[in-house]
Amino acid sequence: MTSPLQLEFVLSATDVADLPPTEAEIAIVGRSNVGKSSLINAVANRKKLAMVSNTPGRTRLLNLFSLPGHGTVMDLPGYGYAATSRTEREKWQRMIEGYLLERDNLDMVVVLVDGEIGPTKLDLTMLEWATASDLPHSIVATKHDKVKALQRDKRRAELAAKCGRPASDILWVSASKGTGIDALRGRVLHWLTPEG
Ligand code: GDP
Repeated sequence: MTSPLQLEFVLSATDVADLPPTEAEIAIVGRSNVGKSSLINAVANRKKLAMVSNTPGRTRLLNLFSLPGHGTVMDLPGYGYAATSRTEREKWQRMIEGYLLERDNLDMVVVLVDGEIGPTKLDLTMLEWATASDLPHSIVATKHDKVKALQRDKRRAELAAKCGRPASDILWVSASKGTGIDALRGRVLHWLTPEG
């Protein structure tokens, strides 16, 4: 078993230029409400490290965490909150694109997809954009516990097909039940390791 990741909050920023340099970083991105904060709390085994909010879209900043001895983890603001204005969306896009394209030593972008509802249009746009921009990225499907046991194999195949990836490439996790959390911790450490 991999121990909880000892994540420590560093700072929040609105611009990639305001971030301290890092030797290795992974970024986590997904639409609002996908379960990103719950997942960060689960891998760290901390209740309130990342804000779990019932108001989707509330976290609007680049939130940087450090994992001493390994590198840093970026919690990117969630996208696709229905009530967001066009100006807000454009601001989000500039901030995220600036970060993803300009951040030095970004080793992996973890794109979260809601396992219960499958990839949204915006998730697919994000995946296409990451591919087109040559960004190393990996899909993690959240809320595994919300899919009925009997439907899991089918759902696993469907979600992967919609994302255009082999099912074996997608890690399924549940922040509530702990499913896949240990595997995700292992992958984070692997991605942050040189040549990982
Ligand atoms: P964020 O907006 O992406 O940071 O998402 P949150 O972590 O705030 O989670 C959004 C909602 O989904 C909250 O009501 C969480 O309790 C719920 N949620 C998150 N992860 C899971 C999970 O693994 N299983 C279940 N059943 N619910 C989850």
